[in-house]
Amino acid sequence: MRLSNYYLPTLKENPAEAEVVSHRLLVRAGMIRKLTSGIYTYLPLGLKSINKTADIIKQELNRAGCLEVLMPMVQPADLWQETGRWEEYGKELLRLRDRHARDSCLGPTHEEVITDLIRRDVHSYRQLPVNLYQVQTKFRDEIRPRFGLMRCREFIMKDAYSFDRDEAGAERTYMQMFEAYTRIFQRLGLDFRSVQADSGTIGGSFSHEFMVLAETGEDTIAVCSKCTFAANLEKAKVTDARPKCRETCAESEPVKTPDMHTVQKVADFLQAHPRKIIKTMLYEADGKAVAALVPGDRELNEVKLKNYLNAVELKLASPEQVVAWSRAKVGFAGPKDLEVQTIVADTLLSKETDWITGANQDEYHLRHVDLKRDVRLAGYADLVNIRETDPCPDCAAAVSFYKGIEVGHIFKLGAKYSRSMQATFLDEKGEEKEIIMGCYGIGVGRLVAAAIEQNHDENGIIFPPSIAPFETALIALNVQDQEVLAKAEEFYALLESMGIDVLFDDRDERPGFKFKDADLAGYPMQVIVGGKGLGKGVIEVKDRRTGDRSELPMNDFAASFQNWRHQVWQGWGLED
Ligand code: ATP
Ligand code: MG
Repeated sequence: MRLSNYYLPTLKENPAEAEVVSHRLLVRAGMIRKLTSGIYTYLPLGLKSINKTADIIKQELNRAGCLEVLMPMVQPADLWQETGRWEEYGKELLRLRDRHARDSCLGPTHEEVITDLIRRDVHSYRQLPVNLYQVQTKFRDEIRPRFGLMRCREFIMKDAYSFDRDEAGAERTYMQMFEAYTRIFQRLGLDFRSVQADSGTIGGSFSHEFMVLAETGEDTIAVCSKCTFAANLEKAKVTDARPKCRETCAESEPVKTPDMHTVQKVADFLQAHPRKIIKTMLYEADGKAVAALVPGDRELNEVKLKNYLNAVELKLASPEQVVAWSRAKVGFAGPKDLEVQTIVADTLLSKETDWITGANQDEYHLRHVDLKRDVRLAGYADLVNIRETDPCPDCAAAVSFYKGIEVGHIFKLGAKYSRSMQATFLDEKGEEKEIIMGCYGIGVGRLVAAAIEQNHDENGIIFPPSIAPFETALIALNVQDQEVLAKAEEFYALLESMGIDVLFDDRDERPGFKFKDADLAGYPMQVIVGGKGLGKGVIEVKDRRTGDRSELPMNDFAASFQNWRHQVWQGWGLED
């Protein structure tokens, strides 16, 4: 491709609204343009990278036995009503009404559509298993679209759905997809981790997320320093290996704690460790009043609480609700004689006694609270966020935290959708069985953004060669010089004939300007044709990642270029 014929509007300045590096660089390098909030046009250069990424994904899925389909973007409401998600999904679902007053939505995901497809056509065990995927545009009316391609409203996703005869089959498929995902992210040249994850609104039995490690990631993951354990904070279990403490607990008594509505203030005042003060967090879970008790030095994790309660909706109680339920102002609620339906305590509270809690009375706390004796507990559960240095739940070594960008997610769905939508088949014995499903997503645009978050410097993007929009930039330093232009043309033809994806910068511009553009867009290899080199019989090449420059002999260019290219790919841990 000749740059003189290409559409590449680059920008010198950073776009004002871009908060993260990938957003800034995608816009500046002329890869995307914003149409409106969370909605982007992919320009030729951006689309090329997206397509290369999608191609690798498709190759690996095809290899794993998946088949490509393309489903509609507009989906009828009645399918979503069948699964109950028309109500459940909330405002991320963009709803539409057509001229016949029929309700539809723009697909944020395709479980309903694909389950409907399968239930109509699949009736026998002989037709199973089957695994279908698509690369398609999704719409989610995200509350806060941001970070460019990272969290948009309209975005390209690869979504796959598997259908198996039984749990064992579904687990095999899940493992195959896990392996296919691992190969995909390896081929993209990214530093990633697969982590145990919460299954969220889609539900189902278990799931893994694939995280690209990057400082700007929105997710924090806990990774064991010793074993392979890695999990999302929602899923990372906090374990407590301490033996049960034998301390005894005196009768509980109120103490006056004027104006002390934070843990720290109460701890200082009563000269206790914050750990000995129980925070009583009040929530409304599907209309029921719930209290969650956690140690004063820990953070409650709402996802863990929601999962324990099996709740669809979990809301922090309003100040009015707190006052009504605890009969005290905010900051003085406690579990003893608290009028809520369910009181659950974090497991860290199960080993000790003699706690300090709110007294359900303005300006008072209770001392010497024993949860077993004084509180009507529904039970203990793992409710708090794991902390760095907490023991790994698998091997007890210390965990550390990393920031990650979720680029892929795989779920074991079980019969969640096949049950509500009656997707069944007849097994070998002629018995009717529910199809066991799995679903598997990859955010294609987010993946390109994540690659940039992980690989860039002050000059621009440093693309892994497998997904760079062009693998090589061929830069003619001075196109006014007839000899330089003629040689550059010759090498352009040669590189093309070698099957190299090359962008020929044949513009009549200053060398500095051309180098800047090439560095900005992050082509992993640069081939530089200039008068000086020609005089010496060499062509200069530059590895964008390392910045290393070398000179390749002109008379043996093809072979020496292949050799150098091989080294560049190897430097990325990739096969060319
Ligand atoms: P998140 O927690 O980031 O909102 P999610 O759990 O809603 O993600 P899934 O429903 O599992 O995401 O979607 C599959 C993949 O699609 C995600 O792993 C992510 O890479 C991508 N994705 C999800 N939402 C967006 C978005 N708003 N913009 C771009 N990509 C997205
Ligand atoms: Mg989401």
